[in-house]
Amino acid sequence: MHRRSFIQNTALTFGALSISHKNFLKMFTDDPWKINMLTDTIGVFTERGGTIGFHFSKDGITVIDAQFPDTAPHLITELKKRNDQPFRLLINTHHHLDHTSGNIAFKDVTSRVLAHENSLANQKNVAVKNKNEDQQYYPNQTFSTVWEEKAGNEKFSLHYFGAGHTNGDAMIHLQHADIVHMGDLVFNRRHPFVDRSAGASINSWINVLDKAMKKFASKTQYIFGHAADGYDVTGTKDDLLAFHDYLGNVLKFVGDEMKAGKTKDEILKATEIPGSPEWKGDGIQRPLTAAFEELSVG
Ligand SMILES: [Zn+2]
Ligand SMILES: [Zn+2]
Repeated sequence: MHRRSFIQNTALTFGALSISHKNFLKMFTDDPWKINMLTDTIGVFTERGGTIGFHFSKDGITVIDAQFPDTAPHLITELKKRNDQPFRLLINTHHHLDHTSGNIAFKDVTSRVLAHENSLANQKNVAVKNKNEDQQYYPNQTFSTVWEEKAGNEKFSLHYFGAGHTNGDAMIHLQHADIVHMGDLVFNRRHPFVDRSAGASINSWINVLDKAMKKFASKTQYIFGHAADGYDVTGTKDDLLAFHDYLGNVLKFVGDEMKAGKTKDEILKATEIPGSPEWKGDGIQRPLTAAFEELSVG
């Protein structure tokens, strides 16, 4: 069946379920990215890489994370259509390429880039190693534990609670709306990357999530860097707790296996983390390897 006739036939079928023809066609013809508004002024952009958050105000547009050089322009073009304020600030949750390599697209758009001080150091290290410093737009403002600033009637506070996914992950709290962008501190039902080369620690990551759950309210909404297929890039404290428990289960499983005399290769054959069956799909070797290394050095 040709694509056109498939769309027409299926649209007719779906028509009975009250999805309009126009909206159904849109599912096939839309841009590769998606925007989901969480409030009138705050939304998330997803295409490829870490979830981008953004905020409109009379003081300008704030963007959290930048994905890749080929996806960031899609966001910039769309936000310019939706809002006529200038871009006031780009924030990086951490240095990974799927969050900062798109910074370069903001070079002529905003003069301020803000991140944790270790995120800047990590971004520089990686760029020097990859010999692509000319393709970076580095943070020009950094913080160590807390940073606060206002934009319109929103108050941004950035928090650093210690090493987790890297040693430079910031949480960005939009206090008025009570929404926190967690960056890659939460992989929603997806096996995480644990970047030990940039100071990550699963044990410390668990403490960081404990501190977050204490700091923020029970009704706070969260934005996550990544989610498994079928799961949202936004969620609640329950999702934080589930990921917190998953990390604990990874450490416990690997620790128990090591005590039982299993080798690293044997441990890496596992297909599920006991106690956290919701985490499926690719990538289980990443947290297992990280836990093995972390427990081996003690
Ligand atoms: Zn990421
Ligand atoms: Zn990351």
